[in-house]
Amino acid sequence: MDLGTSGLEELVKSLRQPSFRAKQILEWLFGRFANSYDEMTNLPSALKSALAEQVRPFALTVIDCLKDPEDGTIKWLSELEDGNTIETVLIRVPGRTTVCISTQVGCPVRCVFCASGRGGLVRNLTAGEIIDQVILACREVGDRVDNIVVMGMGEPLLNLDALAAALDGISGEDTLGFGARHITISTSGIVPGIRRLAEMGRSWNLALSLHAVNDEMRAQIIPPATRFPLEEIFSACEYHRTLTGRMLTLEYALIKDKNDSRETLEALSAIAHRLRAKVNLIPCNPNASRLTAPTMRRCYEAVDFLTDLGVQATLRHSHGQGILAACGQLRQKAEALSGRAEN
Ligand code: SAH
Ligand code: SF4
Repeated sequence: MDLGTSGLEELVKSLRQPSFRAKQILEWLFGRFANSYDEMTNLPSALKSALAEQVRPFALTVIDCLKDPEDGTIKWLSELEDGNTIETVLIRVPGRTTVCISTQVGCPVRCVFCASGRGGLVRNLTAGEIIDQVILACREVGDRVDNIVVMGMGEPLLNLDALAAALDGISGEDTLGFGARHITISTSGIVPGIRRLAEMGRSWNLALSLHAVNDEMRAQIIPPATRFPLEEIFSACEYHRTLTGRMLTLEYALIKDKNDSRETLEALSAIAHRLRAKVNLIPCNPNASRLTAPTMRRCYEAVDFLTDLGVQATLRHSHGQGILAACGQLRQKAEALSGRAEN
């Protein structure tokens, strides 16, 4: 719902209803993950009809749902009120559930290997549309998910107001009570956004999509319009760590013959040490471009190489390979099928 707690209280008041009705609705939305007024059985039907005229209880209509039989990953394609579509992914590993949420329809950054950026930005998501992706995943799990990663479609720091409103909205005890340390925001390196995020003083984790060790190499992956110089990005990340105390993660898509040489990985190690960051290597998914990952053996060798250089490095397993789980891929497929793909 796009109202927030205080907006909902106002609405209930304007409908001349006692304030406990707002609490009941919050309990349905955030305690039982309801997505329709019909489910809210302890509300009078007149109130439900009045509410339905004013605000949708749930912003998403799921139009496609793919489950990976191998690892249980679920990917939803949801339609918004204006007909645009977004993706949300639920990743389960034993003992932990993580939802990967989108913040924009499309993305203005347009990294060469990314399906989300293909058609550029369509629009920002609202706070309600962001929150409801978390609710969608909680409903599936039957409980609050453990972690949120803001790594779906879009550049979160170019929609920071709505994202912050959404994350604050689910942190309250009357909503999901979600702890900031279980939330990670991934950015392509939007310097003013990183600095603003630092100054907000929340303990959200930050991940930087680095992918290259110098500006020339990075220019081959990220177009100039929204790309910042690495030195400026690094000092913004240092500022973020100083103000929040959170450790940075460097995301690094391993691309065959582009950024996977020993010299490049040595330079990556130097950056990780300087920023006191851990490194998450991601084999480049060849969905949107001709760029491909090195062999898995070489990917594991890269992890070992960085580890030997004293860097905390991991290889991100590609969850949901069988269901096009990399960001933007399902939407791209749906658009292609409906003849709307922009190539
Ligand atoms: N816009 C933000 C968050 C969404 S993208 C960002 O770029 O950080 C989430 C992650 O997926 C980023 O690290 C991005 O670089 C990575 N990614 C996108 N397409 C990819 C692909 N084809 N192969 C590997 N990683 C990819
Ligand atoms: Fe946008 Fe991130 Fe995709 Fe780049 S990788 S186009 S920043 S969503």
